[in-house]
Amino acid sequence: MKKTNHDNILGLFKNVQMQGAQKTAPRGVYEYTLSDTVCSATQQMSVFQQSPRKHLIIPIFIMNSGCPHRCIFCNQKITAGNFPPQITRDFFDAEVKSYLDRKKNHYSNVEIAFYGGSFTGIDNTYQENLLSWAKSYVEAGLVHSIRISTRPDYITKDSITFLKKYNVSTVELGAQSFNDEALRFAQRGHDGAATVAAMKTLKEQGFSTGLHLMAGLPQDTPDGFMNSVNKAIELMPDTVRLHPVIVLDGTALAEEFRRGNYKPLELAEAIDLCRKAREKLTEAGIRVIRIGLQGTDAMEKEGAILAGPFHPAFGSLVLSALFYNSTIKLLTGIPHNAKELRFNVSGQDISNFRGMANMNIAAIKKLYPQANLIVESIAGIERGEISVAVDSGKSFTLAVLGII
Ligand code: SF4
Repeated sequence: MKKTNHDNILGLFKNVQMQGAQKTAPRGVYEYTLSDTVCSATQQMSVFQQSPRKHLIIPIFIMNSGCPHRCIFCNQKITAGNFPPQITRDFFDAEVKSYLDRKKNHYSNVEIAFYGGSFTGIDNTYQENLLSWAKSYVEAGLVHSIRISTRPDYITKDSITFLKKYNVSTVELGAQSFNDEALRFAQRGHDGAATVAAMKTLKEQGFSTGLHLMAGLPQDTPDGFMNSVNKAIELMPDTVRLHPVIVLDGTALAEEFRRGNYKPLELAEAIDLCRKAREKLTEAGIRVIRIGLQGTDAMEKEGAILAGPFHPAFGSLVLSALFYNSTIKLLTGIPHNAKELRFNVSGQDISNFRGMANMNIAAIKKLYPQANLIVESIAGIERGEISVAVDSGKSFTLAVLGII
């Protein structure tokens, strides 16, 4: 069968998977080597000012509090980091202050977020404690707002009243999928209709909303996942988080995996699915605020991650795939015997444009074997823009959606 551009890049991702598997690689640190055989680049890294980041979320993980049972993929001890089973006022204050002391001045919007459980399912006294502690920081002018995450079936009239009383502004729903069979197998205890109903209520009540979706659930398919993305778009949440399923120790999914009943996505498949999902969501005007699990110390421990498309820089790999895909669109119609392709991208996009270990550059080189590939960052190019000049002549520009 004829190899497509996509096979080209997916093959390269397999090599990245090998690199990610090296236990000795420090988290998030990778060497980018520039091979002359691949690209003779003049990398005019323009002086760009690191702009202050706009939004800081201070996460407080409530460690499965409020969950009626454990979903098959969930192990908060591995994914949440070092949080106690019950949050005390002292712990809460220390955690919030540690973020504020270090980072407050860099952000124009600071939020306290309760994650890692079903917030609206926890008992009222604990819920009230947590929210009143958070609200005291809002009232002191140190934090701007409060957000929580919860299950779709735990959005009720009473929970809405409670959240409003404490000025919670954003509710993220762990939808995970709209495929009811996948939700049943994952022991979620709710169906896709529950997410539709909860989103409608939250929007009517004026909350900012977020949805979490998972790629690679048992009983789901790539088409099923993309169908869930389409359903999410119909609901128009403000934000989406995308997570490929990882097999974590101590979960029911780990048992299914050991019995041979579950085959996780390959890294390349997960990157490709999340890239497609991100493209669709961004085109629809929905911000994708996270792709892949946040790394924790517990994930580094031997045996914590049994299988699945985990990579400490998964989000960057998806962005690189997005840049590659956009570059291929930009190159449509440009003859494959071109002698020079001179790319211009923002200094902040250079690493995503090149891809990890220059794999995007290598893939372009395969398509344009005679071309000298030059990658520059010339003042005036905007973030998310890719421009190419062909054989020192005509140039073309394309914007990668959602890069700011
Ligand atoms: S509802 Fe969320 S936090 Fe609770 S067990 Fe399921 S995935 Fe984990």
